Amino acid sequence: MTEKHEPETYYANADACDHEEPDDAVDPGGWDAWYDKHPAYDDGRLCLDMPLGPGCPACSVEAGDMVLWPDCRGRDHLRPKGGAVPSPDAGHQPVTVWVGSLDCFERECDDYFDDEGEDIPGVDRCSHIREEQACSCQRQADGEYSSEPCPALTPAP
Ligand SMILES: [Zn+2]
Ligand SMILES: [Zn+2]
Ligand SMILES: [Zn+2]
Ligand SMILES: [Zn+2]
Repeated sequence: MTEKHEPETYYANADACDHEEPDDAVDPGGWDAWYDKHPAYDDGRLCLDMPLGPGCPACSVEAGDMVLWPDCRGRDHLRPKGGAVPSPDAGHQPVTVWVGSLDCFERECDDYFDDEGEDIPGVDRCSHIREEQACSCQRQADGEYSSEPCPALTPAP
């Protein structure tokens, strides 16, 4: 893995938006504004009014297709260990999270298979997944936890 996996905001293709392209000759100012909002990208244009959310450029290059950040396979994902988690609004509460790659969470790594390639029943989680403490405020919309440090846990001076 040479590419760094970092989130970057992705935008929808301008084919999907309903902004008309103004006629350059009739309305040059309008066209400029339209152009600023619809930068050229690959063989099309993007619409900056239609963010798709963060994507992973490194994974996208590898897949030859757009890979959004929650589907990134090149980074660790932080998922709550049990079912019940404190609400993100409940102040800063410790949450135990499992940290590992998507392959490990989706039971696709070696630990889940025996030498013959058969599924090993009873493997709850593989040895690559580690347990860590996160804070309830780090919870994201997709239910995973962010790896950004919690502002309330920064050591006191
Ligand atoms: Zn548009
Ligand atoms: Zn990635
Ligand atoms: Zn916190
Ligand atoms: Zn694993």
